[in-house]
Amino acid sequence: MSDIQKLDEQYIAHTYKRFPIELVSGNGAILTDADGRDYIDMGSGIGVSAFGHGDELWQKAVLDQISRLAHASNLYYTSPCALLAQLLNEKTGGFARKVFFANSGAEANECAIKAARKYASDKGQKDRFTIVTLKNSFHGRTLTTLAATGQDRFHALFRPLTPGFCYAAANDIEDVKRVSLENRACAVMIECVQGEGGVIALERDYVRELRKFTAENDMLLIVDEVQTGNGRTGSLYAYMQYGITPDIVTTAKGLAGGLPLGACMLGEKVEEVFSYGDHGSTFGGNPVCCAAALSILSRIDEPLLNEVKKKGEYVKKTLAGASGIDSVTGMGLMIGIKTAKPVAEVVEYCQKHGVLPLTAKDKLRLLPPLNISPELLEKAVSVIAEGARL
Ligand SMILES: *Cc1c(COP(=O)(O)O)cnc(C)c1O
Repeated sequence: MSDIQKLDEQYIAHTYKRFPIELVSGNGAILTDADGRDYIDMGSGIGVSAFGHGDELWQKAVLDQISRLAHASNLYYTSPCALLAQLLNEKTGGFARKVFFANSGAEANECAIKAARKYASDKGQKDRFTIVTLKNSFHGRTLTTLAATGQDRFHALFRPLTPGFCYAAANDIEDVKRVSLENRACAVMIECVQGEGGVIALERDYVRELRKFTAENDMLLIVDEVQTGNGRTGSLYAYMQYGITPDIVTTAKGLAGGLPLGACMLGEKVEEVFSYGDHGSTFGGNPVCCAAALSILSRIDEPLLNEVKKKGEYVKKTLAGASGIDSVTGMGLMIGIKTAKPVAEVVEYCQKHGVLPLTAKDKLRLLPPLNISPELLEKAVSVIAEGARL
């Protein structure tokens, strides 16, 4: 164990079981460890480094803003957050009428949950505080977003959680209708592709029927695009591939390409739900993070999204049905791979052979930089195939 690894073990809270690799630098989709070994990055820091490491335009945007003004608080106007909110509105075809900026996915979801509860209470329905989420979902680690997360294993040690959450089976339209009506829900919250749950896309008909049902019953539809957002699935946001318009969309991870930024986008129905003082954040909308996001978001265009789709199809085509691989799921460059062997063994093989994948439950999960070169992608996929086969 290196000195840094020893220090980390001694002084960092033991919430993370780290791999025995110390990363020191990155360039594009290549990461380098303290011993000078290179790896192909198939995780992007869990879907964060959307354009890889050291992207020049991103660096320039960040450095320009840092040298001008690194932080201002939300007491004053600053241009990056206003411009970013405008760009989100434009890029979502006018959907994002108002945006609240936070620092993480969990906080973006907290904002969505507060918005839904306030929407109900503004209409004199204070008892309609319940939000229905799906089993096997993941919405964050704060006590409220843990409660929203439909997986018992996250709950057990931290009760009591925030009340007001009920769970329905994914892809079962009758179940979500029943649970939300029985509990007089104010909103239903979904991930179009369950990420931490194993990279499982919801069915198109289910999502469309859920949109219709929630609209007819004056329930909001919240789509958690913390992981699926910002080009990851081959569209700017995954909901766009389902042909629906949600009421609230949250995002974070890849939004600022490597800096912490979350966004809660409020659609037409809820655009005026917050008044002065209803919600806030010291760091939220930080000008450096917003300048970083402007650099990323402005480059997520049709050609890039088509590339993401093509690369995703390449990975699926190459690995589906390969020896030792049971299934390949996901959309775009958000891919889950069920291997016959225990996933930990495949990860270890990959790491030994210069590839860093992620996992989700008992699957491999791939979230490479959106602009990874076809050559590096091919190399990584062949190592993964070997790891699954050998
Ligand atoms: C990662 C994730 C979150 C939590 O984001 P943090 O930035 O870690 O708080 C919430 N929802 C989904 C779908 C995620 O993938």
